[in-house]
Parts: sequence; C-alpha cells; structure tokens
Amino acid sequence: MGRRVESPSSINTYKQCARKYYYQYVTGLPLKPNVYFARGHVAHKVLEKLFSFNPKSKDELYETALRLLKKYWDEEEFFRSNNHTSYFQETSLMIINWLNYFSDKLDKLNLPFDESFVVLKPIQIEQNYSSETFKVKGFIDVVESFNGKIRLMDYKTSQLSEEIPEDYKLQLAIYALLFKENNNKNPDEVGIYFLRGGEKVLQVNNEMIEYAKEEVNKVHNKTDSNDINDYALNISNFCKNCDFYQNCFGKNKSLGMF
Ligand code: SF4
Repeated sequence: MGRRVESPSSINTYKQCARKYYYQYVTGLPLKPNVYFARGHVAHKVLEKLFSFNPKSKDELYETALRLLKKYWDEEEFFRSNNHTSYFQETSLMIINWLNYFSDKLDKLNLPFDESFVVLKPIQIEQNYSSETFKVKGFIDVVESFNGKIRLMDYKTSQLSEEIPEDYKLQLAIYALLFKENNNKNPDEVGIYFLRGGEKVLQVNNEMIEYAKEEVNKVHNKTDSNDINDYALNISNFCKNCDFYQNCFGKNKSLGMF
C-alpha cells in the first residue's frame, strides 16, 4: 500500500490516540460538525478574504472585516440550523482583537494607512503546500515577508497560552519543513496569531526541521496497516468528547471515569 499523505492534523491525531486516527484517516469516518470547528472555519475565511481588499482607512478595515464575518457566518451550514448568538458575539470580539493588534503594527510603521497596509499584507494566504518526499501536506494560513524575514503564521481561536502547546509546535515545525521543501530555504520564523489577543513566535532552525521529519516518518511507519488491532486505544479525558466514543465503548457511557 502506498503511503498515506499526512497533515499536521492527522499526525497530531495519531499522537493523541492511534484508534482515533484509525477511525478518521484509515476508515474515513466523518467527524461530527461542531461549533468550534464551524467558528474557526468562518474566522479563517474572514481573515483570508480581508487581505483581498485594499481598505483606505482603519474604519474601512474594521467595517470590511465585520461585514465579512456576518456574511460567512450566515453562509456556514452549521449556523443555519443552530442558533449561536453568543458564539457570534464572541467571534466578533476575536476579530476585533486581531484587528486591534494588527492596527498597532500598522501604526508603528508611521506611514499613511494604505501604505502600511500594503507593507504588512501577507505575501501568501491559505497556501496549500505539500512534500512528495515526506508525503505530508498542509495549508499555511499566512506567509509574511517583513524586513527581509519570512514568517509563517497560523490563526487560532483558542486561548493565548504562555508557551505554544506541543501540538501547535509540531504543526508549525511541519509548516517550516513544507516551506523548506518548496522554497529550498528555511523560513525565519513560525508562529501563532491567537485571535483572543497576541501572537507567539518561534525561530526556525534545522533542529525544528529535523523534528518535523522525524515525527512525520514515525507516523508513516506506524500507519501502514489497515488492521484496527494495530491502532491502540488511548483512554483519557479526551474520550468523553471524542466523535468515536461509541465506536470504542458502545452506546452505554459506562466507563467509570466518565
Ligand atoms: S474514544 Fe478515546 S480511545 Fe476511542 S478513539 Fe476516541 S480518544 Fe481514542
């Protein structure tokens, strides 16, 4: 069997629980729609589309972003059948937080608004990268070029944390690997825009690239089989919210821990 093309999500799923990986990526069982996924999808679309406009002022920037949010929220299948007003308000705040953060950066350039917007505009948005050599792919939310440095950034709707969590670090390392494979050079930095406020950035070095290669290869080596018995359950607190709970434990939530 040819090697499956992995992604940061599939690799992190395997690391969280091999059985979950089996259900999702070997048998192809779908995940259930949920508010967090739908909200993340909408927020990403807003920030992706925003940079195709060339706003002439901060007011226009904010108005455009909030108009896009309303449009994509209304179009999102999940929100058509579910009333999630509080989530809409919370997501509006996230977008405004990010705009405030971005506006501060624009101000620091001391240029007219439209000129500073062009300087900070990403050079690539939602770019699909893949590596035939390592059989891995991923969408990089934002590629920025500023002061001669290349930076790969990912948007997250989760809480800002002191340290970038390990699963995000691996995701970013894989993006750095994908960028290197496609451009023959390392990016300078990778990081996260936390939409609730702030960013966290890591310097890219060869150690990070090697870490990504090792983790991708480890998952390839462990996922050649189609036999469910080769994918161990990892019973943890994640199980109670897992889409495959019933596949693992049946309808009766009888595990003492839940
Ligand atoms: S319910 Fe638990 S053991 Fe089963 S797939 Fe999900 S995380 Fe893994």
